Amino acid sequence: MTRRCIYCLETERKFDGEEHVVSQFLGKFDPDLFLKVVCDTCNSKVISKLESTFKEDAMEGILSAQYRCRKDSSIRFKNDKLTTTFRVNGKPTTMFSNIFPCLDPATGKIELIPHVLVKGPNGRNLVMFWEGLRDAKRFDKRMNWTGKKNLTMYFFGDDDTVGKMKREIRRRGLDFREDEENIEKGESSEEMIFNYEFNATLDRDVERFISKIAFNYFAYCTLQSNLGEYLYDDYFAAIRTFVIYDVGESPVTILKHGYRTAGTENRPHIAAHFLTFYEANGRLLVNVSLFGFLTYRVQISAYPFKSIPPSVFGKGYVFDVAKHKILRPDTGEPVQKNDVSLLRH
Ligand SMILES: [Zn+2]
Repeated sequence: MTRRCIYCLETERKFDGEEHVVSQFLGKFDPDLFLKVVCDTCNSKVISKLESTFKEDAMEGILSAQYRCRKDSSIRFKNDKLTTTFRVNGKPTTMFSNIFPCLDPATGKIELIPHVLVKGPNGRNLVMFWEGLRDAKRFDKRMNWTGKKNLTMYFFGDDDTVGKMKREIRRRGLDFREDEENIEKGESSEEMIFNYEFNATLDRDVERFISKIAFNYFAYCTLQSNLGEYLYDDYFAAIRTFVIYDVGESPVTILKHGYRTAGTENRPHIAAHFLTFYEANGRLLVNVSLFGFLTYRVQISAYPFKSIPPSVFGKGYVFDVAKHKILRPDTGEPVQKNDVSLLRH
């Protein structure tokens, strides 16, 4: 069988890898949705770079680390984009201003896991958990990204763990001076409330990454509906070239409100993604909401299907990070792999 890449349209390339509809750093889901029609060249030369940028630059990238979607042993992010403020028993505290709070996906509550927060020059931040510190190769690679000079390091954990982490860092040849004035002690509390401020500019690479998720999802559903031949049509030339070649006008607009599941309306974000597609004014649109933070509306093309009237087209799914399931948004029931089609429920 000849495969053809839905992005570059080539047939002569390798197709050994799997392109996940929703990138794996955003969670693991059952069924596992991936495409075999994205070539290895597009994947390694373009898509994996867009993913790295998104992980480090977008709020949703940082949230994927906070929700521990992949149990990463280290996390990097740029530009001091995340400012956290904590209140303990109603009073603001500076105790936690230099730590990286993780979140329990099931409850949304803060989980404080021992770590080192390294602030390097040029706004490059690195969070390392214990496993990340012990892995010598990874440690060196990560520290090279941050830069090994002009660092500020903040340790979080009990005295034993912090002692262990400091010894490990010194053993790896990175000496540092301790500032006693910055040592703060405190107890964690049930009453801890966590707010964050985030200054994000949506750059083109972030928009390309969002567009890629939208088109991947649409492509998966199209293939499930046995309409795969449409994917190579000129209708999709604009979104293809935007994602892969960074050419043309962005198809993304931002809707301020993110998606919420029942009972989570007041949270700033949730551990679930919502993808849906629909037709409006002759256009085919996909909405992408990751962690319910914002909703991105991606214009895919003019409505392309001659055999499907728009009235029966359109569907959406919830990707639940805590349950690792894909759910129907109306009933909350889990869906099967072959149930993910283009048509309405
Ligand atoms: Zn390709």
